[in-house]
Amino acid sequence: MQLLLATHNAHKVDELRRILGSWLDGIELVGYDGPEPVEDGASFEENALIKARAAFEHSGIPSIADDSGICVAALGGAPGINSARFAGTRVDADNVARLLAELKGVADRKAEFRCAAAFVMEGFEHVELGIWPGAVLEETRGENGFGYDPIFQPESYEVASAELTADEKNQISHRKRAFGQLMPIVRERLLRTEIVPD
Ligand code: IMP
Repeated sequence: MQLLLATHNAHKVDELRRILGSWLDGIELVGYDGPEPVEDGASFEENALIKARAAFEHSGIPSIADDSGICVAALGGAPGINSARFAGTRVDADNVARLLAELKGVADRKAEFRCAAAFVMEGFEHVELGIWPGAVLEETRGENGFGYDPIFQPESYEVASAELTADEKNQISHRKRAFGQLMPIVRERLLRTEIVPD
């Protein structure tokens, strides 16, 4: 039984393989090298579904995808679904610099990472949202992770997300929460399909 992961982002493939762990028992996770669809949805959920649908339609293999970003309360939820292209360059360091600049002198640093995880197979679609609350730091800290990890302080932690080990982050992150909710449904659907007698 194969499951296709519809992302070209190497960081996310690596994180997801670790997160999915034993959810993949009996399932072979395969990569996607087909065309990337236009992500023109109005929410993380819509964009995750657009990516999973495109991969399923291209490959015929049941597909999962995610869409994620950081939502900052003082910016009305921005950058949100525009997180990857916030600075216009798609370079992590530029996005981090822009967010720090926008929040210069702003006392309310409340923010959350969000991740929508979608699954699409013949005749079935499902999407789940995971949220990781925290705050935006005043300056970068740590070397781990990617994207906004150096300036995100998870709620009830004294360190930046980029100071957590991969294993620590993967136990509590928005991506872990979204896929933790999605994978029981994926397994139920895939294995149900597998045991239908011919
Ligand atoms: P996506 O690839 O369209 O889901 O865009 C995700 C963007 O949101 C990334 O480029 C990062 O800037 C940001 N992002 C999402 N998840 C994380 C995370 O776990 N850590 C840091 N940044 C993240």
